[in-house]
Amino acid sequence: MTSIRIAEVEKRFGTVRALKGVSLAIEPGELFTLLGPSGCGKTTLLRTVAGFNRQDSGDIFLGDELVNDEPAYRRETGMVFQNYAVFPHMSVFENVAYGLRVRRLGRKDITQRVEAALRRVRLEGYGERTPDKLSGGQQQRVGLARAMAIEPRVLLLDEPLSNLDAKLRVEMRTEIRDIQKQLGITAIYVTHDQEEALVISDRIAVMDGGVIQQVGPPWAIYKDPANLFVAAFVGSMNLIDAEILGEGPSGFLRANAAGCELLVPAPAGHYDLRRIRIAFRPEDATGTGAAPGLANELRATVKTASFLGSAVSLDLELGGRSILVERARPGAGDILEPGSTASFAVPPTSILLFHPETGERVTAVGEEA
Ligand code: ATP
Repeated sequence: MTSIRIAEVEKRFGTVRALKGVSLAIEPGELFTLLGPSGCGKTTLLRTVAGFNRQDSGDIFLGDELVNDEPAYRRETGMVFQNYAVFPHMSVFENVAYGLRVRRLGRKDITQRVEAALRRVRLEGYGERTPDKLSGGQQQRVGLARAMAIEPRVLLLDEPLSNLDAKLRVEMRTEIRDIQKQLGITAIYVTHDQEEALVISDRIAVMDGGVIQQVGPPWAIYKDPANLFVAAFVGSMNLIDAEILGEGPSGFLRANAAGCELLVPAPAGHYDLRRIRIAFRPEDATGTGAAPGLANELRATVKTASFLGSAVSLDLELGGRSILVERARPGAGDILEPGSTASFAVPPTSILLFHPETGERVTAVGEEA
């Protein structure tokens, strides 16, 4: 298994700085995801690791080997693309065999490896078909088999599921993860779909504007976002501007948010901000509906109540801001009329604090700085 190290990589296209000194260390056998909005630089970074782009400065290591000067075909990476990139005039077998023929493997070896790769992606028996007789999901499996057949050091996947329909995307993402784990191959996976990233990854790097915003396991990215960009990009996050009023019970401060007094976790160490941005997830609000007298209670006007079956999602208006609150296992009373008042409570410990200007997380007591 091969590690991947990306050190201070810069890449410009004309005046666009697509990568601004990106550094990452990817562990052997890890499924590592680059997640970010369109144009954030994730494809550029992947193509730089593959050797399709040459960085302006910085280093790429595969294992201990510095590969800056190695052309793509010598880096032994397997690439899977969004648009499948299967050769339409070749049979499935020949598509998967392609990289092996280029490497001049013997006929027996090729047959064995192609058959093993097709078995792994559940396409045994499809070798003689041409890609136009395959579904999108099957074509993408051919792409995956072709990338794996060459037994690459690392697998590079560029939005491999984005051309598939929603149901197939969900099925294929666990399949890709299973195959990657069975092979024990180090993989970089590019997506802009945050749910896909949370499900599939060992760790995620969230990117924006050519910069890594945060690296961590899915749980930490969701529960412990380092800044407002990550907090808002991954999942839904409610944000309210607040003013610190003073000390609360041990470990908490009192804050005024949209006319309501709330307890918020006290930041560690010296802290002199008066204004702060508080954040909480829709699912962390409790007691929607008639729940008077709860600590940290907020009251807001219902804009819409969407019944989702397993939950009801309330879109509320609070001090000119839109707030989302989700109630799992709703009762009939939770589906509130537009214009009515919803009361809900936000447990102080589920509130995160951010700097109102820089957007950086203001670390709370008990967490590492
Ligand atoms: P998407 O999800 O839309 O593919 P991305 O995060 O993968 O986006 P990149 O394709 O890496 O983003 O692009 C990063 C930036 O570099 C963008 O501003 C893009 O316009 C620019 N860029 C990428 N490739 C080129 C190129 N060949 N020539 C000029 N600019 C480019």
